[in-house]
Amino acid sequence: MNSASALPLQPSACRLACCVWEFTLRCNLNCMHCGSSAGSARAGELSTEEALKLCDDLKKAGCLGVALMGGEPFLRGDFFEVASCVRELGMELSVITNGTVQSGEIFENLKKLKPRAVAVSIDASTAALHDKIRGVPGAFDKSQAFIDRCLREGLPVSVITAVHKFNLKDLAAIRNSLKGRKIAWQVQTVGGEGRRFPKEMLLDEEEFYSVGVFIEASRRTHSSEELPLIGAHDLGYNSGVLKNISLYEKWEGCQAGVSVLGIRSNGDALGCLALNDDRFIEGNVRRKSVLQLWNGPAAFSYTRNFNGAQAGENCSSCAHVAACKGGCNEMSLMKTGVMHNDPYCFYRLEHKLFAEKLQNPFKRLWFRLNGLAHAGGGAFEKLGRIFGANRGLHETKHRLRL
Ligand code: SF4
Ligand code: SF4
Repeated sequence: MNSASALPLQPSACRLACCVWEFTLRCNLNCMHCGSSAGSARAGELSTEEALKLCDDLKKAGCLGVALMGGEPFLRGDFFEVASCVRELGMELSVITNGTVQSGEIFENLKKLKPRAVAVSIDASTAALHDKIRGVPGAFDKSQAFIDRCLREGLPVSVITAVHKFNLKDLAAIRNSLKGRKIAWQVQTVGGEGRRFPKEMLLDEEEFYSVGVFIEASRRTHSSEELPLIGAHDLGYNSGVLKNISLYEKWEGCQAGVSVLGIRSNGDALGCLALNDDRFIEGNVRRKSVLQLWNGPAAFSYTRNFNGAQAGENCSSCAHVAACKGGCNEMSLMKTGVMHNDPYCFYRLEHKLFAEKLQNPFKRLWFRLNGLAHAGGGAFEKLGRIFGANRGLHETKHRLRL
């Protein structure tokens, strides 16, 4: 057991940088991978008055930015009343939408609000695959029209792609469809919380790692002007090889309750909405202010009071455990049933994939990566030194200190 442990974080040291707010659970699509299994509105969703009060509360708690998502947030008729309140209070606004609800008013109003980002979910390069994943014919064409209109209006549009076995091999084609269009692209992997998602479609370890390789290769091949591409914050930390993937330069552990707060549409507050389990509800904004929830002495203890002894078997002997806190808790729970035990961190995967295969180095991984590379052609050439030859093996072993 690694005895390293982090000092408990006092609430005063935890700055609420971003509130991710499920504005409604209602959705007009039927996406197979939706982590919150959206469709109908959640029972007891906040009224407009309660939503406006929540904006006020968030501001009083020092919140810097709010991301309104769903379900599909534009399905609520009071979206712009609440979004305007967020901006009038001086907080940044991001919107995450499926891009299928559109009217001239939406774009006009969005422009007035000067959002930080308007993020549209796109999961494939073709209508056939995207609509299959999203469960509604015509979704792709509508979302593409939404993106085109955002671009014409000068809105800061980004695309979020959630990766699983259905669309892994389409990543290169999606990249080709986005580059050169001033669209920021965030790639994330799908978790297994959603009721509709067949669990056998989750990425296995090698596929998961290959998403990291794809991002790094694409970022080496394309300038940030041509293709502003980033992996989700919980993808790829502590890698000894891939240094240029994730949102954060340095991974400092799960941010649930540290800098991030999730609010469900019924007012339940959790450290992170991806921790889609009622065990993690800290309280409800109808009964407590955000300030009380955020500053509660026992609030978010799973991240704020983590110590090395709580790490699971994947992490307990890791040199990074004090700062890393065992990786993404959502991934950890989904894959192992316990917190602080993420089996898909790149540090661990690299040691497992490379070290255990030294008798037959790279054979299987290289085969899988090649499959992805052929789909796009050329993107992996610059990684050849790392993955493709004997020199690559030597270099990788050296970097991983094997
Ligand atoms: S093994 Fe665990 S503690 Fe170590 S880097 Fe990976 S997730 Fe973090
Ligand atoms: S549980 Fe995972 S997705 Fe949620 S804040 Fe923690 S690291 Fe991020």
